Amino acid sequence: MFREGKPLPTWVIVLVTTLLVLATSIPIAYHGLVSVLWAFTITTAFYFLLSRQLAFAMSLVVLLCYGGVSIYSLEPYPAIRVLIALVVNFYLVSLLARKIQRAQFLLSELANKDAMTGALNRRLLDDYLNESLGSYERNAKRSVVAIFDIDFFKKINDERGHQAGDVAIVELVKLIKENSRKSDMVFRLGGDEMLLLIRDVSIVQAQEMLERIRARIESCDVIGTSSSVGAVCCSLANSYDNWINQADEALYRAKSLGRNRVVLMS
Ligand code: GH3
Ligand code: MG
Repeated sequence: MFREGKPLPTWVIVLVTTLLVLATSIPIAYHGLVSVLWAFTITTAFYFLLSRQLAFAMSLVVLLCYGGVSIYSLEPYPAIRVLIALVVNFYLVSLLARKIQRAQFLLSELANKDAMTGALNRRLLDDYLNESLGSYERNAKRSVVAIFDIDFFKKINDERGHQAGDVAIVELVKLIKENSRKSDMVFRLGGDEMLLLIRDVSIVQAQEMLERIRARIESCDVIGTSSSVGAVCCSLANSYDNWINQADEALYRAKSLGRNRVVLMS
């Protein structure tokens, strides 16, 4: 759970754990209580090496092994004390791990998402665009970058107030998310400008999707105005920033052609 990088293969984990648990729990029968101390180190170490679910399962195995050997080989009174200490340690370590994982999740939400709309911010954009460009080079899977911009958004702010402008921006993101697929990603570039990364898609599908979203935005009373969309297929891009720049140019063209339209270049 606290480990970064590639997870260890499951068979390595199971083998090492089995050997470790046997090598440390069996000596309880010969050396008594002092050998139990390993149980606390091992259960804590699991949370540094494994996913939380696997660490929980492995800790349970340790608890049962050490508890079983203790009951079998120690006097009843110390055996019960060992059992209680193991259960309390098991509970506290798993509770702490759950709280840390929750905090990690909240931190990554704060770092990667725009608080107002819930769209991703620019922090991860370059990585995802590079990943899509790589996927096109390796497997010929096409992706499309589409930039949405509300038409005459300043008028909403001026006529209905800044708060109504905020509501319109939130609604824009909601409509884009509702009408795209789970694998697609919405980023807020700034102001009323959103970038939709449509992954592994044909040009026909992308065109249909973008037209559908544009029409939904146009008919949305909460937004109260149309939007323009500039989109570019990854096959035209030679780097992630060139891809965004071309989508920006397509958006500029959509605006200059009279707004409320999709310009898709492929
Ligand atoms: P166009 O059709 O050419 O896009 O015209 P426009 O009026 O929409 O122009 P533009 O897209 O440049 O408008 C951006 C405005 O958005 C400028 C700024 O005042 C406003 N804005 C930026 N961020 C926010 C925000 O978070 N909330 C609100 N309410 N307004 C914002
Ligand atoms: Mg605008």
